[in-house]
Amino acid sequence: MLGLMQDRPLLISSLLTHAETYHRENTIVSAPCEGGIVRSSWGETALRARQGAQALARLGVNPGDRVATLAWNTHRHLELYFAVPGMGAVLHTVNPRLFAEQLDYILNHGAAGVLAFDLPFLDLVDSLAPKLTHLRHKVVLTDAAHMPDGRDDLLCYETLLAAESGDLVWPAFDERTASGLCYTSGTTGDPKGVLYSHRSTVLHAFLCCQADGLHLSRADSTLLAVPLFHVNAWGIPYASAMCGAKVVLPGPKLDGQSLYELARAEECTFSLGVPTVWIGLFKYLEDAGIDPALLPFQRLLIGGSAAPRALLQRFHDAGIHAFQAWGMSETSPVATVATLLPHHRELPRDQQIDVLARQGRAMFGVELRIVGEDGADLPHDGSVTGELMVRGPWVTSGYYGGVGGDVLDGEGWFATGDVARIDSEGFVTLTDRSKDVIKSGGEWISSIELENAALGHPAVEAAAVVGVAHERWQERPLMLVIRKPGGSATAQDILDFLAGKVVGWWLPDDVVFVDNLPLTATGKLDKKVLRKQYINHLITAETGA
Ligand code: AMP
Repeated sequence: MLGLMQDRPLLISSLLTHAETYHRENTIVSAPCEGGIVRSSWGETALRARQGAQALARLGVNPGDRVATLAWNTHRHLELYFAVPGMGAVLHTVNPRLFAEQLDYILNHGAAGVLAFDLPFLDLVDSLAPKLTHLRHKVVLTDAAHMPDGRDDLLCYETLLAAESGDLVWPAFDERTASGLCYTSGTTGDPKGVLYSHRSTVLHAFLCCQADGLHLSRADSTLLAVPLFHVNAWGIPYASAMCGAKVVLPGPKLDGQSLYELARAEECTFSLGVPTVWIGLFKYLEDAGIDPALLPFQRLLIGGSAAPRALLQRFHDAGIHAFQAWGMSETSPVATVATLLPHHRELPRDQQIDVLARQGRAMFGVELRIVGEDGADLPHDGSVTGELMVRGPWVTSGYYGGVGGDVLDGEGWFATGDVARIDSEGFVTLTDRSKDVIKSGGEWISSIELENAALGHPAVEAAAVVGVAHERWQERPLMLVIRKPGGSATAQDILDFLAGKVVGWWLPDDVVFVDNLPLTATGKLDKKVLRKQYINHLITAETGA
């Protein structure tokens, strides 16, 4: 027998309508690329999102079509977060830090007919456009006064909005309809698109607003230091609409000084971002002789890479409750959150920070297990490590366009490529990564592509690239090379050779020559052994220790 409750679809537009109705006046602050500060509200965001949806429809965007963005965190990008899915289309946020071939691939694969971008990306868009076979309209996210002269191939976002009434009733449709598309390079092979739905997005927003989740509420003023092109800015835009929180969008400026000044000016209570951003913030405070206690935050979420314990400690010393969460593009992204349990409250602060330095516990809706190489379950005893498997209503069921084939096992579990242990209370601690990629400052570097590029050098017999610890970027690539007999290439020769073949920030921080490379029982490179052996290579090299 079915229950007799209303079956109302969970739609992103309903989040915005709620914010407009109950939090109309609460502020959205934005530092757009053209400079200055723009203050708007949830009420204005809702109106402008409706105008945006009307403008996109006028450009020929239909339900199901992708609309791509190459843009920083601004009010205009936030409006598109609601306008595009609200009309039943799919917001395809693209990371402008990727290099040209990846951007080509991702944009062509997503096949958006409309690309909306910030003015500083004009040259990039001009270089990409001839290869983007589906692209029909290029919309610059700016006003008429800042539009480039003599470019009648470009449309102005503000002009498009000004032509619309905003008189639109958001359409109702199936909550499983696709809402957002985000490509991840955190796996082997071509980047893969994770296709979120309205349902997964709204459920994930509930999680963000839970007290033991990210504790987001109407009382927060959130500095969004994670880009809108990184997994839906970790879901915060949608969660902020759900609870009506104030949102502060720093635009292109993610340096320590800009973040500090904006956070102070807007009395930000909460912020979130990758460790590199916070390391930059503390460096600025130190250089400028500013007491970290002046930071206005009450809570601070570190994610995207392992939060260094020392960083958590610095925030806590400043009276800020910093904590860690784990997730991935494929999990929308938040899956686990480190929160103190009642019995941890009795512990000295040092030990509390140990708890918060773990990746955290599964939030309701997320199921976790660890498995051995044979796929068998391993105990949650805090000592055994295995591959972390995840299942839940905001976890991917497959990549866009079927790329990568079937990604779930027979029981619906997704293999994360992260290696972890889980203790008896359910706390996850990540210990390694089985996927062959390196995460530097929150962005992916493919070790396989670096190895393949190095193999093109005449003196290289074998090459292995592993991610090793780095104080600022958490991980940087280190290349280990076996020279061909008689080969005499130096580390600099190899780096010079790679320079033209990969983007600059991918270049290994060092090249070390070795006589052999460790292999697993099945004859594959044993990167676990290499990572262990070289983990401190760059740290000791930099400190001269
Ligand atoms: P992405 O899909 O780009 O969001 O990257 C997800 C990956 O980042 C995960 O599979 C982990 O390898 C890594 N990651 C994310 N959060 C954490 C964390 N708190 N600690 C360690 N690694 C993390």
